Amino acid sequence: MSETVDAIGSADVVVIGNGVLGLTAGVEIARSRPEARVVVLGKASRRYGATPAAGAMLGAFGEVTAHLLASEHGRKKHALAVQAQRLWPEWIESLEATGSAEDGRIRTSDDTVMLLNTVGHAALDDANFAAVRTALKEANAPHEEIAVESVDWIDPDPNSRPLRALHIEGEGSVDSGILLSSLERAFKRAGGVLLPVDAAELRAGNGRIEGVVTEAGDFLPAGQVVVAAGARSHALVSTLPSLAHRVPRVYDGVGVSALIDTWDGSAPATVLRTTNRAFACGLHLVPRAGGSVYIGATNAVCLEPRGAASIEEAVFLFNCAIHQLHRGLNGSGIRKIQAGSRPASIDGFPLIGGTSVDGLWMLSGTYRDGLHMSPLIGRHIASLVNGGTGVGELAEFHPEREPISAWSREEILRDVVRHTMATGYEFPWRLPLEWPHLMETFLEAPFAELADRLSDTYTPPADLMTAIMFSERAEQDELVAYYANVYREWH
Ligand SMILES: Cc1cc2nc3c(=O)[nH]c(=O)nc-3n(C[C@H](O)[C@H](O)[C@H](O)COP(=O)(O)OP(=O)(O)OC[C@H]3O[C@@H](n4cnc5c(N)ncnc54)[C@H](O)[C@@H]3O)c2cc1C
Repeated sequence: MSETVDAIGSADVVVIGNGVLGLTAGVEIARSRPEARVVVLGKASRRYGATPAAGAMLGAFGEVTAHLLASEHGRKKHALAVQAQRLWPEWIESLEATGSAEDGRIRTSDDTVMLLNTVGHAALDDANFAAVRTALKEANAPHEEIAVESVDWIDPDPNSRPLRALHIEGEGSVDSGILLSSLERAFKRAGGVLLPVDAAELRAGNGRIEGVVTEAGDFLPAGQVVVAAGARSHALVSTLPSLAHRVPRVYDGVGVSALIDTWDGSAPATVLRTTNRAFACGLHLVPRAGGSVYIGATNAVCLEPRGAASIEEAVFLFNCAIHQLHRGLNGSGIRKIQAGSRPASIDGFPLIGGTSVDGLWMLSGTYRDGLHMSPLIGRHIASLVNGGTGVGELAEFHPEREPISAWSREEILRDVVRHTMATGYEFPWRLPLEWPHLMETFLEAPFAELADRLSDTYTPPADLMTAIMFSERAEQDELVAYYANVYREWH
């Protein structure tokens, strides 16, 4: 047995995962129960971790898409993001008040300017820009459409110039690295213990969680366990066979981003972003301290984890930033290229809350906005672990559920074709004029056949469909069997 597990002996609460959700949960639980022994597991390298690669925009309205607002579950998820946005000022203050901002300020900007430019696909970009405005108006949130000439800092290539700009007040960003170190410090100050090991297995008996087996084979007994291991969460929960088909799977939404030292040390005062587009979270540039900026991000949902950015992804990202935001970025220094796995659930919605195994909780599936959601999720889980009822509206996304079917198969198929085409326009491709229309027609049938073959009942979200389409036949067959098992479990 390793010394550290040995020294701890046992824990009241073990949180598996040292990303933003695991640490936020750890801070909230440790602060609410000073007498309890709370342990967060996870290695400092944070392999495949999403948080270190995140911008990190606190996007409640900027994340809205027409697709999201078209479904009841999507609207509920958006309402939660608006709730989370209200918590950030106080949350940052509480972290900085513990003296945890030694590395710098957590917040990097207060507002967002959303650009609608000539790049992309009208059916996605125009519709999403309109959806963001609708959501802002409905919530009575402060915003203003501004002249594109008045947007601070930008100097795009004229072929990719913005057509419209929307100033979203109070929707800023944080530095995810500083946030993580602040959370670690706040957790330790609240009496929590960081244990730099990975969990390999959960152990339960008589319907109750008993503890965690580490990679080294050590057993750490625990009264309660919170699985917050990002994209690796489902694999861990599945070590309890009774849950393998009752909790929706989680895949890796691999995203590539970069930290850049700008050519002249300048940076915009706000987040600059497009709408979400073409399978991704849109192009965004976020100011960071000391003349550096963050550029993000690509998104490719993968059936297997992938730890590094590809050259193609990096080239694509830089081309987008140089053409659409500022030509000066071309002469800037690359400080770091980073890749992380967004936890992407098979039904596209978060997995937050308790399971039928007493004392076992899960925080995952947050995909594109888990960092933004973290103060709300942290508060929710601390309440549940302490016997409370949590944030009522989050109950909708409890993890042990039949996959949510928020959109019809027809809607998803339309979406997958649109997004595939939009990727080509954003690239940008040069094709004979009639080809895109032909391609759109030719794409419909194979995606429809794939969806029919996978399941009569469930349809994966558009971005996962693409990954499945280009996967090996054996992987597709495995998914057919998975869906059949899930159906059997719930019917
Ligand atoms: C490029 C990119 C840009 C993004 N931009 C934004 C943004 O602007 N705003 C926003 O809100 N969100 C953004 N996101 C999404 C956001 O990062 C995630 O939703 C969020 O960070 C998920 O947090 P997490 O703690 O669940 O997962 P992670 O950050 O992935 O953390 C999980 C942790 O668990 C550890 N772990 C894994 N397996 C084990 C194990 N067996 N035992 C112990 N530990 C384990 C991992 O090493 C990791 O550190 C972005 C993501 C990416 C990739």
